[in-house]
Amino acid sequence: MNAPSESVIPFVRRHIGPDAAEQRRMLDQVGYDSAHALLEAAIPESIRLTDALDLPSAVSEEAATAELRAIAGQNRVMRQMIGLGYYGTHTPAVIRRNVLENPAWYTAYTPYQPEISQGRLEALLNFQTLVSDLTGLDTAGASLLDEATAAAEAMTLTRRAGKSTSNVFVVDSDTLPQTLAVLRTRAEPLGIDLHLVDADSPDLPEDYFGVLLSNPSASGAVRDHSALIERAHSDGALVAVASDLLALLMVTSPGAMGADVAVGSAQRFGVPMGFGGPHAGFMSVRKGLERSLPGRLVGVSKDSAGRVAYRLALQTREQHIRRERATSNICTAQVLLAVMASCYAVYHGPVGLRGIAGKVHRTAVRLATGLRAGDVELVHEQFFDTIVAKVPGRAEGVVAAAAGLGVNLRKIDADHVGVSCDETTTDSDLLAVWRAFRVPSGSHSSTTSAIPSVLSRGEDYLRHPVFSAHHSETSMLRYLRRLSDADFALDRGMIPLGSCTMKLNATTQMEPISWGEFAHIHPFAPADQARGYAKMIADLAGWLAEVTGYDAVSLQPNAGSQGELAGLLAIKAYLDARGETEREVCLIPSSAHGTNAASAVMAGMRVVVVACDAEGNIDMADLDAKLTEHGPRLAAIMVTYPSTHGVYESAITQLCERVHDAGGQVYVDGANLNALLGFAKPGKFGADVSHLNLHKTFCIPHGGGGPGIGPVAVRAHLADYLPGDPREKTPVGPVSAAPFGSAGILPIPWMYLRMMGAKGLTDATAQAVLAANYVASRLADHYPVLYSGNKGLVAHECILDLRGLTKESGVTVDDVAKRLIDYGFHAPTMSFPVAGTLMVEPTESEDLGELDRFCDAMIAIRGEIDKVSSGQWPGDDNPLKAAPHTAQALAETDWPHPYTRAEAVFPAGVTAGKYWPPVGRIDGAYGDRNLACSCPPPEAFGD
Ligand SMILES: *Cc1c(COP(=O)(O)O)cnc(C)c1O
Repeated sequence: MNAPSESVIPFVRRHIGPDAAEQRRMLDQVGYDSAHALLEAAIPESIRLTDALDLPSAVSEEAATAELRAIAGQNRVMRQMIGLGYYGTHTPAVIRRNVLENPAWYTAYTPYQPEISQGRLEALLNFQTLVSDLTGLDTAGASLLDEATAAAEAMTLTRRAGKSTSNVFVVDSDTLPQTLAVLRTRAEPLGIDLHLVDADSPDLPEDYFGVLLSNPSASGAVRDHSALIERAHSDGALVAVASDLLALLMVTSPGAMGADVAVGSAQRFGVPMGFGGPHAGFMSVRKGLERSLPGRLVGVSKDSAGRVAYRLALQTREQHIRRERATSNICTAQVLLAVMASCYAVYHGPVGLRGIAGKVHRTAVRLATGLRAGDVELVHEQFFDTIVAKVPGRAEGVVAAAAGLGVNLRKIDADHVGVSCDETTTDSDLLAVWRAFRVPSGSHSSTTSAIPSVLSRGEDYLRHPVFSAHHSETSMLRYLRRLSDADFALDRGMIPLGSCTMKLNATTQMEPISWGEFAHIHPFAPADQARGYAKMIADLAGWLAEVTGYDAVSLQPNAGSQGELAGLLAIKAYLDARGETEREVCLIPSSAHGTNAASAVMAGMRVVVVACDAEGNIDMADLDAKLTEHGPRLAAIMVTYPSTHGVYESAITQLCERVHDAGGQVYVDGANLNALLGFAKPGKFGADVSHLNLHKTFCIPHGGGGPGIGPVAVRAHLADYLPGDPREKTPVGPVSAAPFGSAGILPIPWMYLRMMGAKGLTDATAQAVLAANYVASRLADHYPVLYSGNKGLVAHECILDLRGLTKESGVTVDDVAKRLIDYGFHAPTMSFPVAGTLMVEPTESEDLGELDRFCDAMIAIRGEIDKVSSGQWPGDDNPLKAAPHTAQALAETDWPHPYTRAEAVFPAGVTAGKYWPPVGRIDGAYGDRNLACSCPPPEAFGD
């Protein structure tokens, strides 16, 4: 008998679903002796690794937690009064525990299947309503990546939506410095010139297409921009205003000042700083611009029974459909954080929020009064929460003195110090600040306002009943439960989404993100307060370099799309530095993810599509033709490996060689790394750069559509061109606001790698590939598997081709996807990368029971399709067309269908514990024709 200490189950056995006996059964089905033998057969020999990964050996969940605790302990939590777009906030415990820490929310997928996503869609609709109300503009989207990238999106929106042909974008010089830095990165490849102006006495250029103003500004000033906006409009430009939701509770909105667009961050609505992210960036626009909004937009529509139902609106704008004509590359956004911010608003309501804003403002006024009483001069008289003090030659000393008292202030230059108040600021913080400035501390009153009456908000907001209904914790708890109960997430069952790797997000990985030592660090805190972050980041960057075979890694990009942009900008900068400025063509195979083409356009490249052959591989003859045609202009090729068709293309090394011979760089989209880890390294088989999706392969949960992290990994020659710190001048500049992007969730991949080790990762890859081949093998007689590679094997996902069945029976992929809901599953990826198909990625985390349940459901559905083909069920009235079936539909006295109620909701294998969709099939087109993107009035829910 083993001693108890030796029988502790290692984490890898928790992570990988099937046990040894189940794996055996799966191997028998697929016809291999071992998973490693299967991988040897599937992966081309030319790219296969011979050595094990060099990673620290795996430790238990407890040991990894203890190690990370010690690392977290090297961070020093201070009172953060730096401001600059990041503020202290109290996350209501009911929201922290029941949203941020609740798998029903954080393991959900992007709501592409709206019938099983009504809860998060409602929460996002609340977010849109919140943003649109507070900014005074008609339509808000369901989150962007951060304030700086939202400002960059506003820049390009004003350019394409306006009529001006100018390439000049005017920017308020009192804009957050990191926003300015990201604008510079994003403007350059698009040939946009930034023209900085002083908002108080703007020296406007002759011709310009758009303007970005700030209110409140980076230095805390609140200004009336109405006249400037009017002038810009008469000059033919559109105007965006960067703002702050808390300030907008008291200050006149951008909309009321005439702005066309508003952007900002919803961080201080209950989302911790996390050393820079993740937080929900927001954007809202006036009527007429809604179709130009980047990112996802939630809208109201109706279901098959005429009930109000939500779904993503205007999907045709999505980058996977528009590809090189896309206007933005945003895919993964910040859904979980947008949900948190909207819940903060629901919990506090308009009166509570106004109370918080009022308290913050009074605190700032008291702070200012005390400073003035001590003869410290302030730069602005009109402010909301931030003051800038003139302290000639003393800034360094004041900031140091404050740090000595546990408070971080902002050193602007040698003569100026910024101080920002927030909802967590206490009297003792004020005392510390006064002491640091060496002014006497009295009990300064705060009766006057520093917001002039012309800027004092008169507009109403948050009148929708949802913002007044859940102010008791009991009611809020039940509201959150009601919403999450409406949704299907990984906590209910498998989400077999191709390309999205919906694997286990282990609780042990999630816990550290709530630790104060990670949650409460300001992204611009002095380095000696963030040593724990530095250590964690260095560990992760090193491990990710090792597993990918690259030389350098930047963790700054806060989604895969942003990693793509960063990687392409690195290529462009490298080529430019070599004097090869004419290289601007980016080859992209027709099967690529839509973000690839969109990112290439944003990097200033021209997209040329390379065809795929009948087997789904890149057509090497077409590649050669394109290389010949574009040779001297070739910048790069972007390929996904294994391909989005779910196969290991054996020509990959050849492809890399030919592109290099033609003078181009090779970008390998790393979203499918779950099929490679431990078996092959892109950095070693010929690629120069990749982005990874830590929210796919490395266990950051999908959050219902974000957050994510999209690190960019490069070979040594590109290392100088990785994204830079927004505070420094670097060759490429930053791609996100914070130096380390969404650093607050880095503990998740850190814990994953620490607990898996080299062998664990390799075993996970083998199991992921085994599972996909098992599913392909079990389903092959029922649905043709579209593509396979070596020895008829697929990689970590497989494409089921329904086109023939659709032709015979009229049953579409949509019908199958909705029918799967009745069987208790989330649908696979629909019609990507091939229209009329379903792409299934089971991942290593699903056990054999769940895999079989899925295969059985798909086989049973095939039987149902056959009944339609044979005429047993009419083409327009069968369980597939009517799916999903709600409990309400079942309770109708009248049951007009040719199949039974039991066949509808309890088909073979479905038990009483099944998931019930709250709405029937949603009519998306109706909602697009009648676009409504904020909370519908309560009357809409009547009969
Ligand atoms: C998910 C994905 C992306 C985009 O990543 P985001 O994090 O959503 O921006 C790019 N390429 C492929 C192949 C993907 O699967």
